[in-house]
Amino acid sequence: MIYLNNRLVPEKKALVSVFDHGFLYGDGIYETMRAYKGVVFMLDEHLERLFRSASMIALKIPMAPEAIRKAVYQTLKANGHKEAVIRISISRGKGPIGLDPDLCPSPTFVVMSGEFRKHPGRHYRKGVKLAIVETRRNYSGALDPRIKSLNFLNNILAKIEAKKRGAYEAVMLNYRGYVAEGTISNIFFIKDRVLCTPAAGVGILDGITRRIIIDSAKELGIGVREGRFRKEDIYHAREVFISNTTMEVMPVAEADHIKIGTAPGEMTLALHQAYKKKVNEFIKSSPRD
Ligand code: PLP
Repeated sequence: MIYLNNRLVPEKKALVSVFDHGFLYGDGIYETMRAYKGVVFMLDEHLERLFRSASMIALKIPMAPEAIRKAVYQTLKANGHKEAVIRISISRGKGPIGLDPDLCPSPTFVVMSGEFRKHPGRHYRKGVKLAIVETRRNYSGALDPRIKSLNFLNNILAKIEAKKRGAYEAVMLNYRGYVAEGTISNIFFIKDRVLCTPAAGVGILDGITRRIIIDSAKELGIGVREGRFRKEDIYHAREVFISNTTMEVMPVAEADHIKIGTAPGEMTLALHQAYKKKVNEFIKSSPRD
């Protein structure tokens, strides 16, 4: 079942117009969330980011956060999912051809839920391969990477390069050549026992998983540096990992065919453990609706 606009409908009936500006222009925003044991992890933070993305593209979400929260849980329950990936998409809506957002009187709102399929265990045991690609991350002054938009061509072009090079994930540099982020992930590395990650100002999506990892590191007494780094910093790191809502913390074994110090590294494992602990605490403290 899919939640479309204001109700649940079977997938076959979940149809959106070819005049939807999400389809015509990639005009819209989205969020991806993970449910553990039927509890949507960090739902409030995802809703906050959704509303922030909306305001950055002057899109008025036609529902209050509480109504969206209800729609998310209704979709999860209607599908009987406990371990799930949930996606909220909101497009500008249906309107005549033309870029003017005012052509679209009502946004299209969709919630989808799918059974969570575990990432292969070997990715966590051995680490994945990265390619630091030629495609640069969008310049913030053109399309700010903080907007989690339906327009993902920048990341898709990077993904195509990574696939050609046999890598699992692409890492993009920003327009000035500083390491930014993956196509669907944030990147971290360990150097001199300090956890390093590109600063928000480099032009990245401020990942919700990224924020938890930074907080966990601080709690574990690990130094944290959010800064500007070059690809050589990745090549010569002791440990490297990538993060997002579904991967959590995924170790990296190679970047551009250069072997990383250790994978999975000791600190990577400690931070993944700390992340899992936070997930468990969150589930325990969440009231079940
Ligand atoms: N960076 C990009 C470009 C992403 O698309 C994502 C998520 O898919 C992330 C980072 C990680 O964000 P989060 O940890 O909130 O899933």
